[in-house]
Amino acid sequence: MTASAHPELACQPHDHSHCVSHALEQAEQLCLQQGVRLTTLRKRVLELVWQSHRPLGAYDILGVLSEVDGRRAAPPTVYRALDFLLEHGLVHRIASLNAFVGCSHPGHVHQGQFLICRQCHAAIELQQPAISQAIVSSAAALGFAVEGQTVEVLGRCRACQESPCPTA
Ligand SMILES: [Zn+2]
Ligand SMILES: [Zn+2]
Ligand SMILES: [Zn+2]
Repeated sequence: MTASAHPELACQPHDHSHCVSHALEQAEQLCLQQGVRLTTLRKRVLELVWQSHRPLGAYDILGVLSEVDGRRAAPPTVYRALDFLLEHGLVHRIASLNAFVGCSHPGHVHQGQFLICRQCHAAIELQQPAISQAIVSSAAALGFAVEGQTVEVLGRCRACQESPCPTA
């Protein structure tokens, strides 16, 4: 098990540089296996999405690219990079926040299930096939064919419940 595979770490103090380097390494390997190119921009966008466990919006990504990197990336370029990362299962889109978060266990097909802390905005990825199965079978009972499902559960993480003053 690697550090990034422990979902509870997302909202606890930890050496996040391990999460980032592990995610980038996994991405390199997966792209190599799939014969696709992790271009400099795609990799940089992935790194930015991974800068914390809080989902990041496309415009925040654009902002860092232009302000920090001094790179004049046009919005469509960044959206294409995000589409690539989504398509290859390296990030998930959190619809309720209109933002993206790195996948903590890429490399196999799965549906996104997230616990989202409304105080610190950390998104903790769950990996619970029973939830997906329950959705698929309930939908099938109604004759509905499920094509995708992202489960977003709102609440407060353990760290935020313990801290009296919000630090968000
Ligand atoms: Zn981390
Ligand atoms: Zn995932
Ligand atoms: Zn929290």
